[in-house]
Amino acid sequence: MLTELRKQLPAEAVVTDSDVVEGYRRDSADLVAAGTPLALLRPSNTTEVQTIMAWASATGTIVVPRGAGTGLSGGATAIDGCVIVSMERMTIIRNFDPTNGTVTVEAGVINADVGRAVADRGLFYPPDPGSFEVSTIGGNLATNAGGMRCVKYGVTRNSVLGLEVVLADGRLLRTGGKTIKNVAGLDLTQLFVGSEGVLGIITAATLRLRPTPVATATFVASFADLEAGGEALNAIFASGATPSMLEIMDNATINAVENHQRMDLDRNAALLILGQTDGSDAERQADEIVDVCEKHGAELAMATSDPQEGEMLMRPRRLAGWATMEQSPTVIEDVGVPRTRLPELLGKIAKISADTGLSIATVGHAGDGNVHPMLQLPDLSDASRARAMEAADQICAAALELDGTITGEHGIGELKRHWLPNQLDEVSLDVQASVKRSLDPSGILNPGRGF
Ligand SMILES: Cc1cc2nc3c(=O)[nH]c(=O)nc-3n(C[C@H](O)[C@H](O)[C@H](O)COP(=O)(O)OP(=O)(O)OC[C@H]3O[C@@H](n4cnc5c(N)ncnc54)[C@H](O)[C@@H]3O)c2cc1C
Repeated sequence: MLTELRKQLPAEAVVTDSDVVEGYRRDSADLVAAGTPLALLRPSNTTEVQTIMAWASATGTIVVPRGAGTGLSGGATAIDGCVIVSMERMTIIRNFDPTNGTVTVEAGVINADVGRAVADRGLFYPPDPGSFEVSTIGGNLATNAGGMRCVKYGVTRNSVLGLEVVLADGRLLRTGGKTIKNVAGLDLTQLFVGSEGVLGIITAATLRLRPTPVATATFVASFADLEAGGEALNAIFASGATPSMLEIMDNATINAVENHQRMDLDRNAALLILGQTDGSDAERQADEIVDVCEKHGAELAMATSDPQEGEMLMRPRRLAGWATMEQSPTVIEDVGVPRTRLPELLGKIAKISADTGLSIATVGHAGDGNVHPMLQLPDLSDASRARAMEAADQICAAALELDGTITGEHGIGELKRHWLPNQLDEVSLDVQASVKRSLDPSGILNPGRGF
């Protein structure tokens, strides 16, 4: 089958060297088993992606789209006999329009590179997943990635105006455009955001930029007990403050970061609340949040308007995922609840950790009610994996009991598929299946993933 494809693509776009392919078989979801792909395909432009999809459609070959492989739900993990279509060579910034605040980039552009490309013109691209230095815009769009700034600026879907997508049969679909308002036809842009590679391959996107805030302030508060920290969070929500980041780290996360790099964090603190405010009244807002934390029992609380000091204070949070993953095999869970119910969720997670005997380090985007309980496995044996699955199941159940969601930003992928019917009803699943069938009738795009 590959012989025909090789005739249509440059030699470097079709890789079958098993040593190279091995590096692309998995994403960052340790619990998902990887299959053996037929080949790794590395297109360098949209036409090559169209050639690949037309060939895959004609031959019935399964296609797994891939960005940087930082996904945490197994959506980019290889399936037996598939081709992995890596977007890593599509890294052109096609158009930057600072006056209209838009940038059009290819899907393989790294998130942080968008920020670097537009910073000189006083603009920034808000979505900032913890993986922003390595993950791709295509992967961010396909998972509707979140991040720390979402509490004020929204998730990836709030920063995309238009897409270029190659459909299952190789046709090219263009959606949206450069305008902020656009209601011509159904909103196909948003249909593809969060579609986890099952509806088409995103090859380029027009993104919406925002003006860099005139000032930023950073706050941090530590609490000796979880309950007081939870009450402080609810008091912050109730105060009407509009932080641009509002994050939490629990004791296990604090210790993982401190083990990774000494930062003089209080290893005994039960909860750290940290975040930023931005805009002309950033300093005043950060001071108000510190006041609220002090009134609710913070052992230590402070704010700074110095950008460098602020970055230093936020650094533990940025390192949390990587530091925990360095300690032991880690399953990074992802659930969301209405944010006022976060303290209840934290209590339930602590109980699940005690019941299963699994160390769980919880970090999260408190402002969105979205947390990542990080399950720390002693090893990757079948018994440890089973224990992790059990804890993950209990965490999803806890989130649903609190009117929440089984995934806030990492997606369903393969890992959470068995949980989806517990959250979505039959009609919803049926409508989603109809959309899939109409765009990918042979089911070649990332089957068994997402909805
Ligand atoms: C340490 C760490 C921290 C993280 N922090 C966050 C966080 O704060 N917020 C958050 O939301 N996520 C976070 N993630 C998860 C992950 O980084 C995001 O899901 C990210 O958007 C995945 O991008 P990627 O380029 O690595 O995509 P991949 O992992 O390669 O793919 C993810 C999914 O998108 C599909 N896909 C990829 N590219 C395309 C394309 N061009 N067209 C169609 N489908 C495509 C794949 O098939 C797969 O289903 C974190 C991960 C790690 C390891």
